[in-house]
Amino acid sequence: MPQSTKKTCVIIGAGHAGSVLAVQLRKEGWTDRIVLIGEEAHLPYHRPPLSKDLLAGEKEVAGIALRGQAAYDAAEVEMRLGERVERVIPELRTLRLSSGEELVYDALALCTGASVRHIELGDGLDGVHYLRTADDAMAIRTDMRPGGKAVVVGGGYIGLEVASVLARKGMHVTLLERAGRILERVTSPVISEYFTALHQDNGVDIVTDAVVTGIGGEGRVSSVLCEDGSEYAADLVVIGVGVNPESTLAEEAGLQVGNGIVVDEYTRTSVAEVYAAGDCTWHPSALYGRQLRLESVQNALDQARVAAANIAGREVKYEALPWFWSDQYDIKLQIAGLPIDYDHFVIRGDRLNRDGRGFAVFYFRGEKMVAADCVDRSAEFLVCKKLIGKQLPVNMQALADEAWGPDSFEMRDDFL
Ligand code: FAD
Repeated sequence: MPQSTKKTCVIIGAGHAGSVLAVQLRKEGWTDRIVLIGEEAHLPYHRPPLSKDLLAGEKEVAGIALRGQAAYDAAEVEMRLGERVERVIPELRTLRLSSGEELVYDALALCTGASVRHIELGDGLDGVHYLRTADDAMAIRTDMRPGGKAVVVGGGYIGLEVASVLARKGMHVTLLERAGRILERVTSPVISEYFTALHQDNGVDIVTDAVVTGIGGEGRVSSVLCEDGSEYAADLVVIGVGVNPESTLAEEAGLQVGNGIVVDEYTRTSVAEVYAAGDCTWHPSALYGRQLRLESVQNALDQARVAAANIAGREVKYEALPWFWSDQYDIKLQIAGLPIDYDHFVIRGDRLNRDGRGFAVFYFRGEKMVAADCVDRSAEFLVCKKLIGKQLPVNMQALADEAWGPDSFEMRDDFL
């Protein structure tokens, strides 16, 4: 019998990155075998709705699939859902599944994402939740009660989105944040203040400098205790205190790991024929001059496309501009770039007047725009994505002055 000459690319993790990588690899001309292995039983799905429409009951799990089964069939992607990879042995180009089965690969992509950080309080009590998967979101939905008391631990984007849904569903919501302001890790005080006021207007109590030390109850949660002795009654607790990159598999396989799986600009790990994409990576950014670990759909999709191109034999660098969004109540925040290492900012619009016209904050390092937070300002967001991504010169006069439209933000010769 002649030996099969077909090669196999195995992708571990059937989330945003894994799903795109599989389908894109076929588009890149890979004619051999593609196997996509995912621990969750659902077809790969959009995660953002978990703290938005799905949590609010406006969508169901089947309605948030990234693509239907037919798309994987058409791309001849072998789906292995509900299966976990336990070990990767790069020397043998082999991996072992939880079932005990072994698979040999020629190319491997790690798209293992991230998993929630646990605070190890209230474990085992009904009504205490974390949120990363569709099953988590459905469990929170089941516990939502109009008129009930909810405590959200953590004032990052996910905690705030959850608080906005719970408040809209008629729950009395208290949000406890350990830092001095919400969103401290990810944005400026201006944006933190705006979202604090927005939540307060919608009846959410925001408590900062609140260090949670206990979650109590008998069988079911009934209270949350803080270090300063304050206690909050709770029928439902949702904990959103960040995620850790899923890099254990990589570490055990001897791959270089920092704040995630270390990859170069071609999405290659430290081991030959092993690539990585998405939330699990610690990757270089030429634009920001540092290694980054991003938790965003943009990063997962763009990096996965680059990985697919490189696995298929092209040489493509990952150079995409980071961008992100968050929906709270009827407000859309869109973020272009990363508001880090800035030395000053410019505000456009009236941030105190919530009249539906929105506002934007543009962050600069010297003359270089490094990020923009745009609240209900999609036109500004789109222009800033281009300005930051292409490092174009900025017409400073136009930024704060609404007499100038966003199309005037780029410095052109006729403005000189
Ligand atoms: P994931 O989507 O996490 O997929 C990784 C998959 O790998 C998981 O299904 C996991 O089970 C599987 N896996 C891990 N290890 C193994 C193993 N050993 N064997 C088999 N399978 C394994 N981003 C935005 O840009 N905008 C938003 O508004 C936004 N909202 C969000 C709201 C919520 C509630 C959450 C949780 C995330 C949100 N994000 C948002 C972030 C975004 O969803 C992630 O950045 C994105 O999902 C990352 O994709 P990924 O493929 O890297 O990882």
